[in-house]
Amino acid sequence: MKPSYLRENVLAWFDECGRHDLPWQKNPTPYRVWLSEIMLQQTQVATVIPYFLKFTANFPTIKKLSQAPIDEVLHLWSGLGYYARARNLYKTAIIINRDFNNRFPTTLEGLMALPGIGRSTAGAILSLSLNKPFPILDGNVKRVLARYHAISGSPSDKKVENEFWQHANLHINDHRARDYTQAMMDLGSLVCTRSSPNCQQCPLQKKCRAFKLNKVMDFPEKKIKKKLSNKHYYFLLIKNGNKFLLEKRPPTGIWGGLWCFPQCDYEDNWQEFCFNNFGITPIKFATQAIIRHTFSHFHLIMHPIIITMQKQTPLIRDNSALCWYDTKNPGTIGLSKPVSDLLGISQYDTQTIL
Ligand code: SF4
Repeated sequence: MKPSYLRENVLAWFDECGRHDLPWQKNPTPYRVWLSEIMLQQTQVATVIPYFLKFTANFPTIKKLSQAPIDEVLHLWSGLGYYARARNLYKTAIIINRDFNNRFPTTLEGLMALPGIGRSTAGAILSLSLNKPFPILDGNVKRVLARYHAISGSPSDKKVENEFWQHANLHINDHRARDYTQAMMDLGSLVCTRSSPNCQQCPLQKKCRAFKLNKVMDFPEKKIKKKLSNKHYYFLLIKNGNKFLLEKRPPTGIWGGLWCFPQCDYEDNWQEFCFNNFGITPIKFATQAIIRHTFSHFHLIMHPIIITMQKQTPLIRDNSALCWYDTKNPGTIGLSKPVSDLLGISQYDTQTIL
């Protein structure tokens, strides 16, 4: 292991100023580290903590997770967003239960062969749980390395990404891999932050190239922001007392596998749509104020349409992808945040249109 100014200084800083009491740092098994790493992708630590605690209380082992119904898994993920993460998590749990006797592989390649685990997440599992010297390259670590070494070019460019990995491999610590990985994540999130890096308090300042060049904010190179397009979804809020009719969405795509209000097109005749699909004869339609929700690649404009139906109208077909969701006695199914918000609304500000 070659000496590294970055490694020695970041570890000394970590001992004094790093985070040592995050829930996943207690009993850091591969399962708990993996779960936390997946939850932390694109998500802040403060948001993840209650989800992690609830998830591990319900599924203390990977075996328990693999044996749970997907609806229960998505229910515990509801509101955390990026639901493909939860679906991959579940697939991986099933594979590890079925093929690996509930034990995680202990090699980089073995981990990277599992759904939802890339090189950085595999490195995090190996270093944070087993103290093996594999580096990570999450957003925080990339930012520190980009500034410290003044790495130019887009981090999503393959050549530039390789340069990042070369640097990351040189600094990893053979003996304190767990602490080093946590130290780099902490430095990126607490000191070398995206918009206001605190260089005066940084243990790397003396040798930081971006600081010396007075170009800290030039690294890493920023992504060119694409203008996001708008997509319009029309949701039918079919209500029967405290219950709303919900439909399970297809397993992939937006809110894949979650439950949602039935969706139709603006051109649809909503009365016919309700009758043909659910055997319901609506007696009144009303619109509600639109809701805007931004995904990474588009803005979703939701148009809720409240439907009053004849009392006690039964559904004409038996379909496991439909349910009456009782807001007074909620079931364990996955719901996105906008759908939960809409379910929680009791006073509708409506304009009757039929
Ligand atoms: Fe980041 Fe500033 Fe530290 Fe360089 S000196 S690593 S830019 S906080």
